[in-house]
Amino acid sequence: MKNLRDVLSEAQKSKVAIGHFNISDLTGLKAVFESAHELRLPVIVGLSEGERAFMGVRQAAAAVRVLRDEFDDPIFLNADHTHSLASAEEAAKAGFDSVVFDRSELPFGQNVAETKRAVEVLKSINPSFLVEGEIGEIGTGSEIHEVAPQNLKLTTPAEAKDFVAATGVDILAPAVGNTHGLSRSMVRGEAHKRLNIERIAEISKATGLFLTLHGASGTNDDDLRRGIQAGITEIHINTELRLAWRRGLEGAFAADRDQVVPYKLLPAAVNAMKQVVSARLLLFSGRLAMRTQG
Ligand SMILES: [Zn+2]
Repeated sequence: MKNLRDVLSEAQKSKVAIGHFNISDLTGLKAVFESAHELRLPVIVGLSEGERAFMGVRQAAAAVRVLRDEFDDPIFLNADHTHSLASAEEAAKAGFDSVVFDRSELPFGQNVAETKRAVEVLKSINPSFLVEGEIGEIGTGSEIHEVAPQNLKLTTPAEAKDFVAATGVDILAPAVGNTHGLSRSMVRGEAHKRLNIERIAEISKATGLFLTLHGASGTNDDDLRRGIQAGITEIHINTELRLAWRRGLEGAFAADRDQVVPYKLLPAAVNAMKQVVSARLLLFSGRLAMRTQG
């Protein structure tokens, strides 16, 4: 089966992006897997340190491995936003395919030193394990925020080039107008995040690397299409999925106040999440664009 590097290389060549969706449990995994399976598209399942603490590192790895073995689908597992080398090593040893080694809160030089060390250690555990580094500010918390964070520092092409050369990362997470979480006006659909497309193109040209767009929930669809054309190869969606999960569950609870059977209530959450995942996968893979243009 193809590994994650193969899949990202193909995406880069054909100017499409691979969807990355965060999960906290098997309900989320079911939604992400079924959407990708039905559309016959590769997909990346992500768990942050908080999500891994809830589901279990080896439990998450086992659940994804079973799906891969049973269906032979290109479903990959990423250790999202990992703030220590010990935590990254635990994921690599458990069988994750990649890590977002996030020391972006440190001064540039320290971020470089720690990320470089992480690349060396993690590749010694698994040579095909991919390490993603992060520079610039994209805010924290894939949650509902009162207002979107303002004036975040964008990644410059020069620092991206320096960071990549000094660390040896496989994937770069730049700050290009993206932010984690959704503001209340974005939840209502009244506002959308806008991307700096020119900056994406400059960073792609300067590094030649796979680029991940974090915090893509609530982003203008056309910006996402143009961002992919400019060099984005992987796109993270979390908050939109969490919102769908809650709305799905609330609907199921409201529809039958006496229902206590989890497997009768949870499909509503799965279906709500699947709608988000499928729509995003279609957009990222270019199928939606072709359909609307045709
Ligand atoms: Zn992120």
